Amino acid sequence: MKLLLIGPQASGKGTQAKLLAEKLGVPHISTGDLLRAQTGEIRKEIDSYIVSGNLYPNEKMLKILKERFEREDCNEGYILDGFPRNLKQAEMLDEITKIDKVIEIDISDEEAVRRLGGRVSCENCDEGYNLVTIPPKDPDKCDKCGGGLVIRDDDKEDAIRKRLGIYHGDTEPILARYGLVKINGEQSIEKVQEEIVESLGV
Ligand code: AMP
Repeated sequence: MKLLLIGPQASGKGTQAKLLAEKLGVPHISTGDLLRAQTGEIRKEIDSYIVSGNLYPNEKMLKILKERFEREDCNEGYILDGFPRNLKQAEMLDEITKIDKVIEIDISDEEAVRRLGGRVSCENCDEGYNLVTIPPKDPDKCDKCGGGLVIRDDDKEDAIRKRLGIYHGDTEPILARYGLVKINGEQSIEKVQEEIVESLGV
């Protein structure tokens, strides 16, 4: 199954996608993670976009995504998170694949800002936590590797505002293209997952 999860920052897309990926046995493809996994010169270029809260150019993003789709673990499908973010990307996606189902996870801007305020990640292994919703055992240390926890540059206030603006201006309008299922993301992680699974009929 090729599934697309759409929602604003901090809607819990990544968390839900991870849980679903385990359940369905298909990979979770997050375009943000794909970009952060790049190394060397290209990573420096990517960071200049991410840090300022801007989108990486469509064509370059598509190239990285296409390469990921070509890997063998995508044969049975995937859960895509973070792409498309604008009309151009939606058209590009239509050209390279056919998505079976689209799920929108909806939360208010107020809730997004509240949650993003608590978002931290490990400076060593990049594992993400939320001091409000998914706290690490020790608030200063990564559960996985013991590394220090920091606020990602793109989770700082100016970048958050810019990203929510891009979501409302560019991403939300593409929802009309899809016959989607809308889920209330302001519920517990378990309840949101339950509603997604129910809507998929799996
Ligand atoms: P995320 O982890 O989804 O919040 O993405 C972090 C950052 O990666 C975004 O603010 C963008 O700068 C970049 N990014 C992620 N997905 C895309 C995309 N589909 N197109 C362009 N840039 C992206």
